[in-house]
Amino acid sequence: MTIYYPPIEGFFNVPIKNHYGSFGVKRKYSHHCGVDLYAPVGTPVYAIESGTVVEIEWFTGPETQTDWWLPTRCVSIEGDTGVIVYGEINKIDNVLVGFKVSQGCRLGSVQRVLRHDKGKPTSMLHIQLLEHGMIDNDIPSWTHGMDKPKGLLDPTQMLIQCQLGILSDNINTNKENLK
Ligand SMILES: [Zn+2]
Repeated sequence: MTIYYPPIEGFFNVPIKNHYGSFGVKRKYSHHCGVDLYAPVGTPVYAIESGTVVEIEWFTGPETQTDWWLPTRCVSIEGDTGVIVYGEINKIDNVLVGFKVSQGCRLGSVQRVLRHDKGKPTSMLHIQLLEHGMIDNDIPSWTHGMDKPKGLLDPTQMLIQCQLGILSDNINTNKENLK
């Protein structure tokens, strides 16, 4: 089994089924094309697997004609599983397109994306998974009534496997504590 590195530290919830952060959930204008991992602003984001940086772009905000959101970026890394898009983060100076990054490498940190606090988290890491050779801009928005866009994959299982990595670490830690 592939060992995935947790993209954020600690135990994070992976939203599933009808949760508003889950993959494919129907929202006001479209379906959600990734999975949201809720985390405070400034939370460091790490590479789930090793790969090559294929894109660093604006992800939300005025530059992407989504002015209702605050400006955030995404970093996309192509590795064995496909292209993993780390969205709603900032960019950091030592991660550039074409660079090879190792699993666990720091990619940036979580930024606030929602302008208004309506009682739901306003900052999160949005993880998207694409087929090899794709970038985020290749994927059309997933409008209501449309099938899942070609090239877009469901990252839920991968993120659950990241959690299993944390769990096994915790088990080891507990064993240490018992000695
Ligand atoms: Zn999202």
